[in-house]
Amino acid sequence: MIKISDSVLLQAINQFGIEKQALVAVEEMSELQKELLKYFNRKEENRHLIKEELVDVLITLRQLFLIFNYSEKELNEMAERKLKRLETKLK
Ligand SMILES: [Mg+2]
Repeated sequence: MIKISDSVLLQAINQFGIEKQALVAVEEMSELQKELLKYFNRKEENRHLIKEELVDVLITLRQLFLIFNYSEKELNEMAERKLKRLETKLK
């Protein structure tokens, strides 16, 4: 996964506020949805735009994790549970 500097993201949260940065995350997810729909529904060649929106979403998702302050342990435990559940669907 890409390396994201938490210090820059924390600065942005402090400067622009939690609500603003949370809404930026929502906006970025919407932009990614739009590009994915264009790719799969309209067969547009927009892989470069999908890449850009994926990176925007990764950055803003990391900001959401910082805003909600979940511990690595609880995130890993939840990810493990969800991956196990997915694994059972593959058998
Ligand atoms: Mg974007």
